[in-house]
Amino acid sequence: MDFNLPDDLREVQATIRDFMLSRVEPRAHEIEDSNSVPPELLKEAAGLGLFGLSIPEEYGGVGLGMLGRCAVYEALGQGHMGFGGVVSAHASIGTSGLVKLGTEEQKQRFLPRMASGECVAGFAITEPSSGSDAANIRTRAVKKDDVYVLNGTKHYISNAPIAGLLTVIAITDPARGSRGMSAFLVEPQSTPGVRVGKIDEKMGQKGALSAEVIFEDAEIPAANLLGPEHMGYREALGILTAGRVGIAARSTGAMQRLLDLSVAHAKTREQFGQPIAEFQAVQFMLAEMEIAVQTSRVLWQKVAWMVDEGQDVRRMASVAKYHATEALSQVADKAVQVAGGMGYMKDSPVERYYRDQRLLRIYEGTSEIQKIIIARDLLA
Ligand SMILES: Cc1cc2nc3c(=O)[nH]c(=O)nc-3n(C[C@H](O)[C@H](O)[C@H](O)COP(=O)(O)OP(=O)(O)OC[C@H]3O[C@@H](n4cnc5c(N)ncnc54)[C@H](O)[C@@H]3O)c2cc1C
Repeated sequence: MDFNLPDDLREVQATIRDFMLSRVEPRAHEIEDSNSVPPELLKEAAGLGLFGLSIPEEYGGVGLGMLGRCAVYEALGQGHMGFGGVVSAHASIGTSGLVKLGTEEQKQRFLPRMASGECVAGFAITEPSSGSDAANIRTRAVKKDDVYVLNGTKHYISNAPIAGLLTVIAITDPARGSRGMSAFLVEPQSTPGVRVGKIDEKMGQKGALSAEVIFEDAEIPAANLLGPEHMGYREALGILTAGRVGIAARSTGAMQRLLDLSVAHAKTREQFGQPIAEFQAVQFMLAEMEIAVQTSRVLWQKVAWMVDEGQDVRRMASVAKYHATEALSQVADKAVQVAGGMGYMKDSPVERYYRDQRLLRIYEGTSEIQKIIIARDLLA
């Protein structure tokens, strides 16, 4: 067994980490204040291939496997979690359905523009009345000649305000229950009857915009049906499985950054005539943070490797997401403690991480839902 990332992936990871820390993090206040990501930073990200991570090279992407993608997601977890959120929602759940299920014509139509960053992508399943209970969505798609007519409301959809393409899950055959679900490629900016609502005001992850998406007799060409009609809940949700490994990797990156900031602070901040790093109580917090980083990293690396080997990762993706996101919350709390009062101040990166990280235990399946998936699989 070799636990080292291959040299080429380590180089890519280092490049993205450097971009996040030297280009994005210094502009964190601007992103926080304006709740938007500077377009030139998104352009730079596109130039680095971040929008084409999961897109095969023949369509203009970088074509990384899951291990490579997750190595990049770990780097994206550092610097600014909102910025990382925009890119990862596009590169993971926004793109993976099309790459996995799309026809050649659909891929040619969308993937090159997605890889260049011209067309930002998102994924929409959640509705006001069905979050964790995603099998109970109500958005309906009714076939009428060569279009599907969509009606319903999605909410909390990441990237919706800037998205050129959304993978939307709707019910095509209510008689089949959750087996009657289908996926559609929807262009929200140019499709009559599709409206993006008010931008959500969130606790954190500023710059990563989410919003409601409303469908009122929106006619989606039948050519935009993604995958088989009535593909069903299991397959539709399969799009999220890989995303969960990515969240575990992003969480690991965020923990690494918090640990690095905490070590640096502990070495320089003096109380009682010595650096606070001399106090065992502080050392224990740093040690616990390191344990969280190392265990989370080994887990995402294992699950990403399993994905690349073609193994079924439904249980293990949930194990990795649960472990890393819960660990991150504890690490963020300790980082505030090590920083003391400074960690509670708005101009401290630790304060920002404390707010930003909370989302990771909620989206793409809450921690409770991850435990349900794990237990069901164990008992099956
Ligand atoms: C900022 C943000 C961005 C998002 N981006 C997207 C996106 O891009 N696309 C998308 O489709 N969705 C997105 N979501 C939605 C997200 O996936 C849901 O919020 C999440 O799945 C939880 O659903 P809910 O908010 O309806 O909570 P609920 O399902 O109402 O859950 C509330 C609480 O009840 C618990 N609970 C529910 N059912 C059970 C059960 N059976 N057993 C035990 N506990 C249970 C939950 O774990 C949670 O603690 C986003 C959400 C946010 C906040």
